[in-house]
Amino acid sequence: MSPWCPRRQLAVSCGVISEDLGNVAPRLDEVRHRIASAAARAGRGPEEVRLIAVSKGKPAEAIRAAYAAGQRDFGENYAQELVEKAEALADLDGLVWHAIGQLQRNKAKLVARVAHVVQSVDREELAVELDRRAAALNRTLDVLIEVNVGGEASKGGCASGDFAPLLAAIARCAHLRPIGLMTIAPFLEDPNDVAPFFAQLRALRDAHGGRAVLPELSMGMSHDFEAAIAEGATWIRVGTAIFGARG
Ligand SMILES: *Cc1c(COP(=O)(O)O)cnc(C)c1O
Repeated sequence: MSPWCPRRQLAVSCGVISEDLGNVAPRLDEVRHRIASAAARAGRGPEEVRLIAVSKGKPAEAIRAAYAAGQRDFGENYAQELVEKAEALADLDGLVWHAIGQLQRNKAKLVARVAHVVQSVDREELAVELDRRAAALNRTLDVLIEVNVGGEASKGGCASGDFAPLLAAIARCAHLRPIGLMTIAPFLEDPNDVAPFFAQLRALRDAHGGRAVLPELSMGMSHDFEAAIAEGATWIRVGTAIFGARG
C-alpha cells in the first residue's frame, strides 16, 4: 500500500495501525544488510559490528517490535525515559540498555540502576558519581569514554587531550569497567568526509593500549555508520534508519 492511501492513513491516524511499528522489522533488516556489506568491504565479518538501536523519543512498542525481530541492544539519551522504558519492558529477557546521552551528575543514580553500559562518560566527577551509585547497588557498569573529536561546543565528550587523565580516573573506580571509546562525529553532508574523525577516535584508542585494553569503538549513526565501520567501529548507534524520523 502506498503511504498516502487514504484508508491506511485513516487507520494510522486512528491508531489502529502504526506506520512506524510495521516498518521496524524491515528497516532493521535493511540496516543489518548495510552493516554486513560495509563490514565485507572493510574485510571484516558482520559479527564484529554490534548494532545498538537508538529508541529515544519512540514508544516502548517500537522497542518490542525490534525485539521481536531479534534486536537486543537499545540506546536511550534521557535518564528518565530510559528508566520508564526499562520498567515498561522488564518482561523482555536479555535486553541491554545503553545510556548514550549527555548526563548530568544528578541523573547518575537513575542511570546506574538500569543501564548496562554508559557510553557518555566525559568527565571525572560524572565517573566518580556513577561509581558511587553503582557501588551502592552492588553492580558494575561497563563504560565508554565519550570524546568530542570534532571539538564542537554543542556536543558532549571530553577533549582528546583530557582522555588519558579521565581513563586513569575511571581505572580507580572499582565499580566501573572501561571498555572503549564513543564519539558523535560532526554532521557532514558527505559521510565519507567524516572518516578522519572516526580514524582519530581509533588512533586515540590505539595510543592507550589498543584493542586488548579498550575493545569497543562506538561510532557511526544512521547517516554515517558505513564510514564508521570502514574505520573500525565495533558498535554503531542507529536510530532514524530503524525507527523513522523523530517528531
Ligand atoms: C540520537 C543519537 C543517535 C542516533 O542518531 P540517528 O541519526 O537517529 O541514527 C546516536 N547516538 C547518539 C549519542 C544520539 O544522541
